[in-house]
Amino acid sequence: MIGERCHSALHTAYNIYNIMCRNAELGPCSAMYEVTNQPPPLEPYNLLQSDRVLREALLREHAGWAEDELTTLGKTLGETETIQLGFEANRNLPLLRNFDRYGHRIDEVEFHPAWHALLSIAVKAGLHSSPWAEPRQGAHAARAIGTYMLAQIESGVYCPIAMTYGAVPALRHAPALAAEWLPRIFARQYDPRFRPATEKTGALIGMAMTENQGGSDLRTNTTRADFIEDNASRRLFRLSGHKWFMSAPMCDAFLVLARSQGGLSCFLVPRWTRDGKRNTIHIERLKDKLGNRSNASSEVEFVEAESELIGEEGRGIPTIIEMSAYARLDCAIGSSGLMRQAVAQAIHHASHRIAFQKRLIDQSLMINVLADLALESEAATVLTMRLARAYDENDEAALIWRRVLTPAVKFWICKRAIALAAEALEVLGGNGYVEESVMPRIFRETPVNSIWEGSGNIMCLDVLRAIEGTSGAVDLLSRELAEAAHADKRLRIVTARLNGRLAPVEQNDESQGRATVRDLVLAVQAALLHRHSPAAVADAFCASRLGSEPGGAFGLLPSGINCRAIVDRAAMRHVD
Ligand SMILES: Cc1cc2nc3c(=O)[nH]c(=O)nc-3n(C[C@H](O)[C@H](O)[C@H](O)COP(=O)(O)OP(=O)(O)OC[C@H]3O[C@@H](n4cnc5c(N)ncnc54)[C@H](O)[C@@H]3O)c2cc1C
Repeated sequence: MIGERCHSALHTAYNIYNIMCRNAELGPCSAMYEVTNQPPPLEPYNLLQSDRVLREALLREHAGWAEDELTTLGKTLGETETIQLGFEANRNLPLLRNFDRYGHRIDEVEFHPAWHALLSIAVKAGLHSSPWAEPRQGAHAARAIGTYMLAQIESGVYCPIAMTYGAVPALRHAPALAAEWLPRIFARQYDPRFRPATEKTGALIGMAMTENQGGSDLRTNTTRADFIEDNASRRLFRLSGHKWFMSAPMCDAFLVLARSQGGLSCFLVPRWTRDGKRNTIHIERLKDKLGNRSNASSEVEFVEAESELIGEEGRGIPTIIEMSAYARLDCAIGSSGLMRQAVAQAIHHASHRIAFQKRLIDQSLMINVLADLALESEAATVLTMRLARAYDENDEAALIWRRVLTPAVKFWICKRAIALAAEALEVLGGNGYVEESVMPRIFRETPVNSIWEGSGNIMCLDVLRAIEGTSGAVDLLSRELAEAAHADKRLRIVTARLNGRLAPVEQNDESQGRATVRDLVLAVQAALLHRHSPAAVADAFCASRLGSEPGGAFGLLPSGINCRAIVDRAAMRHVD
């Protein structure tokens, strides 16, 4: 009754207001002003075919054979409906249900249909496993291009995709387990049902290493693994203990570190036991996160959970770290993708918005900012795609790239993405601070790639260790840089400084780890841009990143740079 009265009063007030507007010749309230000087949305578009830098990478990194399939994915991801799914999945957050209505433990997380739809697109495109399922030259690079595009539209679903991709080489340390699980992992069908994996058409894998008392220092892990039996070449254990972070808890199984009699070991812990019961993985709560909100990250307790050993007992860290190498590559790809989307949105906005009688893109200080952002994005893209190719090759150079450059690239690109997202957001002015623009989501997403799979300092320390422990690494890197350095004095100076830092005495100085990695990545980026990008891009990159002028913000490119050419190259073209 009260509700009805309120409704009727509101209706009357609205009518009176409209009559007043009409009398004042303003028209009804919805047409009080005409919307002008706002850009159209950047949609629909094809994320591959509209992106010149990405298409070049596709061909250069031997993934040209995948162009048709990636074009289809780029079109799907760039459709208005798919972009909308990203918004919906982040507005309707996952919900933990510990118990059913009768009080039975169920430990299930409910996701919005938009999450399932996005995950389905990613799995159908094979982003979770295609290089393993269908190995061929350029397979990892082709997948990297696919995940780069996925990250631009929705990064939450990238998490289970990345973990599943990384889990495959680790699982192969247990041949019987691999024989059972890999066919499901290789299937390109996303099956969201919470059922034993044996009844499902596809499976996704998560990972749980981090405990409350330590994430970087995994040697502090306390989760206990008690041996049960050997069963037809499979070693079965029961796990008891907690994990402080376990993302995507609705995955079908998890690689988990736990301490058995033989030391820290790696286990596969499925959500369902072999006899079809829910495994005792209690999801305690979901994290209330800064970003990556469509994805659930949980705290869990294992209560004698059924599990199987992967690899040798006591060799858990090397086994699971193999997974981490791929996941670190994915952090770099994901951050490069986020940068790409932020720059595309910024250039698009500035191309339409007029201030002081001129388009923003025609204002010389604005184009300096845009060109600087575009340089960062192109350098990140060229480098991550080159790194992805190293996962397609097996010669000495590729192994050095993987071992040394993976943590280096993860560190630098994930850090740069955070700063770039903030600056790109500002190009949109107030609109950039509003959720509907996607920029706040990109901004919130960027720090996580820097934290998980090894935070910044841990990456830099790992680079120092890798350089020290990989014979031929310094020689190979010097050779890779020498040709480009020969032609560019600025690169010569940085390479000389880097060589000094890589000398054995300096390598031992952990306090300089970040400086060493910065120099390494900038030098490699500059060399790659010299080799593969237009001279305007390579020159501007060296002038702004390798010189002696202090940085600190974007938009500090020195005069004389062809900013227009750099920005034109980075603009997304509307191609379906
Ligand atoms: C959203 C999200 C999801 C996650 N999902 C998962 C998951 O699914 N599975 C999983 O296992 N983990 C997951 N993690 C955990 C993540 O991997 C860890 O948070 C990360 O490895 C850091 O560990 P920590 O939080 O214990 O920090 P700490 O190890 O305490 O580190 C704190 C800081 O100290 C620095 N530091 C540590 N040691 C040194 C040193 N020797 N010298 C200099 N600096 C040092 C680190 O770089 C870091 O900046 C997730 C984290 C987040 C934020």
